[in-house]
Amino acid sequence: MGSLESGHGIENGSTHMLNPLDPEEFRRQGHMIIDFLADYYKNVEKYPVRSQVEPGYLSTRLPDSAPLDPEPIETIIQDVENHILPGITHWQSPNYFAHFPSSGSIAGFLGEMVSTGLNVVGFNWVSSPAATELESIVMDWFGKMLQLPESFLFSGGGGGVLQGTTCEAILCTLIAARDQVLNQVGRGSIVKLVIYGSDQTHFALQKAARIAGINPENFRAVPTTKSNEYGLAPAALESAILSDLTVGLIPLFVCATVGTTSSTAVDPVGPLCNVAKRYSMWVHIDAAYAGSALICPEFQHFIDGIEGANSFSLNAHKWFFTNLDCCCLWVKDPNALIKALSTNPECLRNKATESNRVVDYKDWQIQLSRRFRAMKLWLVLRSYGIVNLRNLIRSHVDMAKHFEGLVRMDKRFEVVVPRNFAMVCYRVLPSAIGDSLKCCDEKLVNEFNRKLLASVNETGRVYMTHDVIGGVYMIRFAAGATLTDYRHVNLAWSVVQDCTNVMLIKS
Ligand SMILES: *Cc1c(COP(=O)(O)O)cnc(C)c1O
Repeated sequence: MGSLESGHGIENGSTHMLNPLDPEEFRRQGHMIIDFLADYYKNVEKYPVRSQVEPGYLSTRLPDSAPLDPEPIETIIQDVENHILPGITHWQSPNYFAHFPSSGSIAGFLGEMVSTGLNVVGFNWVSSPAATELESIVMDWFGKMLQLPESFLFSGGGGGVLQGTTCEAILCTLIAARDQVLNQVGRGSIVKLVIYGSDQTHFALQKAARIAGINPENFRAVPTTKSNEYGLAPAALESAILSDLTVGLIPLFVCATVGTTSSTAVDPVGPLCNVAKRYSMWVHIDAAYAGSALICPEFQHFIDGIEGANSFSLNAHKWFFTNLDCCCLWVKDPNALIKALSTNPECLRNKATESNRVVDYKDWQIQLSRRFRAMKLWLVLRSYGIVNLRNLIRSHVDMAKHFEGLVRMDKRFEVVVPRNFAMVCYRVLPSAIGDSLKCCDEKLVNEFNRKLLASVNETGRVYMTHDVIGGVYMIRFAAGATLTDYRHVNLAWSVVQDCTNVMLIKS
């Protein structure tokens, strides 16, 4: 029974119905939200960095069902302040040193706003020519800033695309590599394909392998060691490949990381590409976090040899002042992606596509609909310029160096792995704990550092996270939140020292 027949076509609300996109009301409410966010950034330092709420806190504060009648924006903003902010972990706080940064900026935010405001769905060129063309242009701009080889740029026969996340970028490149090989050896050989990374490679690779239908037994996480600073050793990769070849498997794909998530280790790009080339494998370089630093000439040596790779990606939403989400992926052979991912339904047929003179980005990604992400990257690049962007990155690296100096001055602590970018991994030394615990058992040392981090984060004054590498529990201090300054770095260290003092007295 249709609603019209039963007389419920349009219900009588208590207020008159406003068009949900009324321009003047948009202006009024939009200004209120900007004011709300400007105040938020002004005061963000005052909130506990890591949210201190308990699971389920929100359902005790909000109604059981959606409102029948409209509510004013004023009330809603009030509820955001009262009920949502307590459950926010403040990634934009200058005292945020956890995971990797999610560095926001005015340009990143405003670019996102323009993109959201225009609200176009640029799946192919004709669906919004500017969205596609701007994306191709900024990807070439950015690629040049990183000194990527010409072969990765549109101007050199390759090209770049903006994806949501690194997980998607890795999946797309893996599917492209997979289909290239399966087209030669036959679809049935999928069970023989092997994927390689190190034990430090992001789980994005394993997830992509699963989705791509790779036999879970054919995923190789080559062990790394402290002696080569947790990088993937080319010789270890090659011996894994050789032993797979002897049992008839097909080496397909290797993911090398520049700046691993746990410790910012760097895999030797050039030598790994040389190994992969001997077995005709696809090489993807995952520089999700550290890629941004490569706009500074002094960091570019970390991708020496990249001309031997097939694809390269970084997250501009991590350390490049571009609000979430914005993963930049460059490929040498766009056709490999397109062959694997293109679709050609009647409803999307158009002259531009048939002319072969345009890029249809729907064929470079998983989904059909796509956001106008190039807008915000364009605003970031233009608003700050290459010189300022380099200096911002360098200032974060210098803050991390400063923190590293503070750690090294306190003999109770050690820096666990070399600092490559703007992250310091450190811990309280067994000797410092041993004096009071009368014990140097590694498990106890790890437990001590775990408790230390918990007490640091419970202060709400700073937020750091941890990882375990080579059996060692370490605390990660990642500088890079846009509002962070030296006084925040000093505060962070004094919180760590205070908590350490308390724990050493107690034990
Ligand atoms: C953050 C990170 C990822 C995952 O990024 P998403 O964009 O969240 O998928 C992958 N690899 C590395 C090295 C990372 O640091």
